[in-house]
Amino acid sequence: MFERARKVMPGGNTRTTVYIDPFPIYADRGEGCHVWDVDGNVYYDCINNFTAMIHGYGHPDVTTAVVSQIAHGTAFGAPTESELDLAELLVERLPSVEQVRFANSGTEGVMMAIKAARAFTGRPKIVKIEGAYHGSYDFAEVSLDSSPANWGDMPASTAYAKGTPAGVLNDVIAVPFNDTEALRAVFDAHGGTIAGVLIDPMPNRAGLIPARKDYLEATVEIAHCFGSLVIFDEVISLRLGYSGAQGLWGIDPDLTALGKIIGGGFPVGAVGGRAEVMAVFDPTRGKPALPHAGTFTANPVTMRAGLAAMRTLTPESFEHLESIGALLRKGITDSLARHGLNGQCVGLGSLFKVHFTAPPITDYRSVYPGASERKKLNLFHKGLLDRGVLSASYGLFALSTPMTENDARDILSAVDGALAAIASQP
Ligand code: PMP
Repeated sequence: MFERARKVMPGGNTRTTVYIDPFPIYADRGEGCHVWDVDGNVYYDCINNFTAMIHGYGHPDVTTAVVSQIAHGTAFGAPTESELDLAELLVERLPSVEQVRFANSGTEGVMMAIKAARAFTGRPKIVKIEGAYHGSYDFAEVSLDSSPANWGDMPASTAYAKGTPAGVLNDVIAVPFNDTEALRAVFDAHGGTIAGVLIDPMPNRAGLIPARKDYLEATVEIAHCFGSLVIFDEVISLRLGYSGAQGLWGIDPDLTALGKIIGGGFPVGAVGGRAEVMAVFDPTRGKPALPHAGTFTANPVTMRAGLAAMRTLTPESFEHLESIGALLRKGITDSLARHGLNGQCVGLGSLFKVHFTAPPITDYRSVYPGASERKKLNLFHKGLLDRGVLSASYGLFALSTPMTENDARDILSAVDGALAAIASQP
């Protein structure tokens, strides 16, 4: 399949994150917490479409909702009741969200949040955390990937993609994670031009460690003091709790970008927030400050799938995910120690990440992989594939509700085997 793919797609690929050297495995089907590849191998799915499939595959409520909606019609040039239902659920669950607009991907959700902050404040600049991933909007990609050669005291605004316009770099200020004083200094210098601070409360690429509560509180206080907004990227972190990370931390951002689990396995994104800010999208009094459309935006198949998936996600689901997550984090930590490997397993709830480095993870720079860690991560990823566990090549794991404690123990024995093999390498 990869040979066929290489002829019609650059590098045989349409999604950089799923490429594996020398070739990716091709998925055939999924059921519960398992996926099968086209060669008939079965895996515990511990990546769940990069955190989106919180119920794994084939949840009967989601399937029923989708099949029935397909028979009714899949997309219309008119709003449908399905988007009201999902918007109402999100408003009810997320303390800071009074109104919602949907989009087709998390990238778009983040983009609309950034544009809303600009439209509301009339200012150009965005502050973001060095190394944090927020999708592929130019402005959200700045300083995603900065090599040690660029590391001064403060992060530089570096381009992720070749050809990024200088204007994009000029309007994004990168800051170190969990560093209140650095944020305050940036606001002291540029406060009047900053539309908002974009922050993921547990940024995956910056190490998957949680933001400190006092840091998030200070972020809101500093931003508001300068008339700027705080945008939470909860595209992934919504799966941390019934009311997302904002519920766990007790912080109300002005805007929240959403995606992944709210689409029940279909393409989705959204931005939600305070009604006063969300009014930038309002078309009822003429052209809005921020016009926003999209042919497949709020399409009813996604909305119905998302609604079914979210309704099934109860407080008990989160307790279950936390308990198997904790079992796995502890088991992996023990296994690393047993094999004498420098490493750690960090994360919360249904998310965790393995780092082959001993010092405490603090930010993006602390997880920038040296050659030996890169080698270990690669061996770990492939060692897990060989033992029937699918994870992300960079050490991220995301669990699903159908997983049981027994499944977690099977996954731990695969992890132990993969780590033993790494430890035996010369
Ligand atoms: N924000 C975060 C934190 C993400 O992890 C991602 C995707 N992994 C996005 C935004 C972009 O979402 P999408 O891939 O749906 O565009």
